[in-house]
Amino acid sequence: MIHLENITKSFGNLQVLRGIDLEIEKGEIASIVGPSGAGKTTLLQIMGTLDMPDGGSVVIDGTQVNRMRERELSAFRNRHIGFVFQFHQLLPEFTALENVMIPAFIAGRGQQEAKEAAAEILEFMGLAERASHKPNELSGGEKQRVAVARALINHPAVVLADEPSGSLDTHNKEELHQLFFDLRNRFGQTFVIVTHDEGLAQLTDRTIHLIDGEINKMV
Ligand code: ATP
Repeated sequence: MIHLENITKSFGNLQVLRGIDLEIEKGEIASIVGPSGAGKTTLLQIMGTLDMPDGGSVVIDGTQVNRMRERELSAFRNRHIGFVFQFHQLLPEFTALENVMIPAFIAGRGQQEAKEAAAEILEFMGLAERASHKPNELSGGEKQRVAVARALINHPAVVLADEPSGSLDTHNKEELHQLFFDLRNRFGQTFVIVTHDEGLAQLTDRTIHLIDGEINKMV
C-alpha cells in the first residue's frame, strides 16, 4: 500500500532521512517511533505527499507520487490519504458535523451526500449526540475523534497520524487507539502512526524504529 525506496531528505546541511526503504501492507497498522529529531514527522509528511524527498521513490496505493505536479497531488491526497494531527485543527465556527463534511465537499460530493456520510461516521464513533456541537463545546477526546472522522470521510486507503493521542488523557488515549483498530477492522484502512507513546506502539502490528534518519533493524 505504501512503498518507499531509498528515500533521502535534507534541510540545508542537515540530512534528515538517509535512504529509507519501507513497505507497509494494506490493512496494516504500523507505528513509527524514535528519538526527537530522528526524522519521524518528515517521513510521515513524505508518505502523505505533503513534502517531497530529495531522492528515492514513493508509491502509494499503486501510484508513484513523487513525480506528480502539485495540482494532481492535492487531488490524489484528498482521495487517498487522511491526516490526523496532535492538535485536531477543527474549524471553530463550524459544528462537528460540518467540520467532518468539509473534505467531502472538497472532493466534490453534494451537500446531502456529505451530510449523510458525516452523520454515519460520527455515529460509528459514538458522537451522534455531539454532531451539532462546535469544537469549544466538545471535550479533548471528542474533538480528536471528530478529527479522525474528518480524516476518514472520503474513505482514504491510508490514514497518517502524527502524535494523535499526544494531547489526550489516558482514558481518551485508549479510546482513540481502540478506534483505530475498530476502523481498520471495519473499513480495512492502512494506518501509519508516529508516536512517543510506547503503549500504543506495542499495540500496533509493527513498530518501525527510526534513529538518526535510518530504520534501525536491530530493534
Ligand atoms: P519529534 O519527535 O521531536 O517530533 P521527529 O523525529 O518527528 O521529532 P522531524 O520533525 O522529522 O523529527 O525533524 C527532523 C529534523 O529535521 C529536526 O532536526 C528538525 O529540526 C529538522 N526539520 C524538520 N522540518 C524542517 C524544515 N522544514 N526546515 C528545516 N529543518 C527541519
